[in-house]
Amino acid sequence: MAPTTPLRSPPGAALPGAVRTIVIDAGHGGHDPGTHHFGLKEKHLALDIAKRLRTHLQRRGLTVVMTRDSDRFIPLSGRPAIANRLHADLFVSVHINANRNRRVSGIEVYYPRASVVSASAQWPPAVSPAEVAIPSMTVKQVLWDLVLKRTRSGSRRLASSVCRSMRTGLQVHCRGVKPARFVVLREAWMPAILVEVGYVSNQTEAQRLGRADYREAAAQSISEGIVSYIRDQGAEHI
Ligand SMILES: [Zn+2]
Repeated sequence: MAPTTPLRSPPGAALPGAVRTIVIDAGHGGHDPGTHHFGLKEKHLALDIAKRLRTHLQRRGLTVVMTRDSDRFIPLSGRPAIANRLHADLFVSVHINANRNRRVSGIEVYYPRASVVSASAQWPPAVSPAEVAIPSMTVKQVLWDLVLKRTRSGSRRLASSVCRSMRTGLQVHCRGVKPARFVVLREAWMPAILVEVGYVSNQTEAQRLGRADYREAAAQSISEGIVSYIRDQGAEHI
């Protein structure tokens, strides 16, 4: 069905607020195909949607950096690390879902749950182990909790906005906005979400995801959700 285009602003119109740079992360890649059903691989679908999303956001005048724009493998914590290094304003990871129950379908959008940092996790922004008298895991955990406390409400609002926009744009059930401890979310220093665009294990949804026009509509509706979040952020500063 024809996707609707809510919240469309004139191309090139400046967006309010402080969001300038967005890192888009296409899930999996290279030797890691992600999930695969009906001849479709998550790594290819996620990359295609991520590239289309990049185009939509660039049209809005935003700077977009991809963690990968080809079929290559990037370790999980290397992905938020790219956004952290760039001091990006938002981090958006694109994935495709699967379930043993093939009737399950729909969109899910995740935001970071309270952190449980790993030994390999970086120190939070502006902190180096040398600056911390006792560079223990407990100290690292406390500092990360402070970072997430600052960014979590933004992440949750961004997730809700994208969920709403995709539900309208794709006329697909949004199964919810949920907290999760995915590495790509918990190690990002900025508002971060992970979008599960649909279930490739569900035949109807796999057929849709296999179509370029559906992937285009998905990218467009994710973009509209991000833009709507940015506008709301800007309005808060007025
Ligand atoms: Zn995935």
